[in-house]
Amino acid sequence: MIELSGDIHEGGGQILRTALALSARTGQAFRLTRIRAGRSRPGLQAQHLAAVRLAAQLCDARLQGDALHSGELTFEPGGLKSGRFAVDIGTAGSMTLLLQATFWALAAAPGPCEIEVKGGSDVSWSPPLDFLEQVTLPLYRQLAPIETLEQRRGFFPKGQGLWRFRTEPGGLTTPLDLAAAPHWLQTGGRAVASRDLRERRVAERMAERAGAMLECPVEVEYAKSACPGAVLTLWAKDERLRCGVGVLGEKGKSSEQVAEQAVFRLREKMDRIEPVEEYLADQLIPLLALVGGRMRCQDLSPHCLANLEVVAAFLGPRIRRYGSLLTTLPFEVVVLVGLQASGKSTYARSQLAQHRLI
Ligand code: ATP
Repeated sequence: MIELSGDIHEGGGQILRTALALSARTGQAFRLTRIRAGRSRPGLQAQHLAAVRLAAQLCDARLQGDALHSGELTFEPGGLKSGRFAVDIGTAGSMTLLLQATFWALAAAPGPCEIEVKGGSDVSWSPPLDFLEQVTLPLYRQLAPIETLEQRRGFFPKGQGLWRFRTEPGGLTTPLDLAAAPHWLQTGGRAVASRDLRERRVAERMAERAGAMLECPVEVEYAKSACPGAVLTLWAKDERLRCGVGVLGEKGKSSEQVAEQAVFRLREKMDRIEPVEEYLADQLIPLLALVGGRMRCQDLSPHCLANLEVVAAFLGPRIRRYGSLLTTLPFEVVVLVGLQASGKSTYARSQLAQHRLI
């Protein structure tokens, strides 16, 4: 039985979610104590309990402590299954976060799986649906196919969104190679608002301001939803990955302010020489352990550090950390010898971009 404590680093829900998926994948049972001890309302909230129930369905797990507000959980997985699974969070708790509790297991299931989740689609402190589609999933597909089949927006406070997706067993294990400085080639975005905000042109105004600032097309969508809400997601692409931002609309903040905030944050990320932005970084750590490779992160957040520990508990110490670089690869030192001003540094910058120049 793997013993984990939920108070490490940020002390949040991600420790639980990563443990659920890796436990289901590897067949190793775990006990998690002090669940979300770093949060003002610790213990299992609706979203976390839904994650537990969904992960348990995938592998017929035996559970103890699976109750609302519980501070301790024991999860004993059985064999992985394939088929159709559904869970309703019942609040505006994030649907996209449930992927962190399942994907690593779904990729090892004996056959295709179809998952239906009900809850919040674009809510605070979680990846907005379009961030997940545009930034995270293209990389997750290096492990296993995953496709969205249906989606309905669910904003805070009512939620009631829907996300139905299909996965197939993995086998596409291409190692990550995300260490060299990015060359952002193209930017894009999508502005979404609930239909009751159409008269105020909320989605168009976010799209027009962001599109004008970035000089790129930004798609507009009005979505059926149980309560008002809006979200703007922007991204930049290079050949290997994307970086992105999702900014939620708020009362008292104009559509133009949402757009300016999103563009400002995206530009900050695009200016960095490390390719993997902060939120994507923690979401990729289990993938890095499973497919191998390396990635250089803009910020190693407490979420990243916690995920590194949880991944090591289930899969062993595969990932090593050197400053902002996370790698599973052996280390290589290249010594460049030559006269002063013969072009050693230039050569290193162009041909050895993934190495650090000392
Ligand atoms: P809590 O600890 O309160 O339970 P939680 O379970 O909702 O919180 P966290 O443990 O804080 O979740 O994890 C949040 C996850 O959502 C992290 O993977 C983080 O990278 C991601 N995330 C948060 N905000 C964004 C954002 N704006 N865009 C993309 N991803 C985000």
